[in-house]
This record gives sequence, C-alpha cells and structure tokens, in this order.
Amino acid sequence: MQEVNRSLKIVFCKNCDEPEYWGCMFWRNGKQYCRKCIYKIWDEENPNANYDHIVFPDL
Ligand SMILES: [Zn+2]
Repeated sequence: MQEVNRSLKIVFCKNCDEPEYWGCMFWRNGKQYCRKCIYKIWDEENPNANYDHIVFPDL
C-alpha cells in the first residue's frame, strides 16, 4: 500500500498554486501540472476533443 499512499500525497501545482494529489500530477515540457492545468492545456490544443475529466477522483 506504500505506492498508493505516496500517490495520494498532496502537493501544490507550481502553475496555479492549487493542491493536487502527487499521483495525479502531469509532467509536460519539463514542467509539472495539476489536472486542472493539464486539462486546460489539452483543451486549448485540441478544443474539439472531449476529454473525460473524471479520470481521477476529486481532491
Ligand atoms: Zn495547476
């Protein structure tokens, strides 16, 4: 269960300062983003894509 506990650790997104689970952070172009930020980036890149925003449990 150690792996799960680590992924549920709370960290703060450097992009928006919102709390996020460590296991839900995304690395992109050398930067780390929370779900909110990475979804925004994905939506901007591909506005017609309908991403499932309920990939991870809400914080
Ligand atoms: Zn963020």
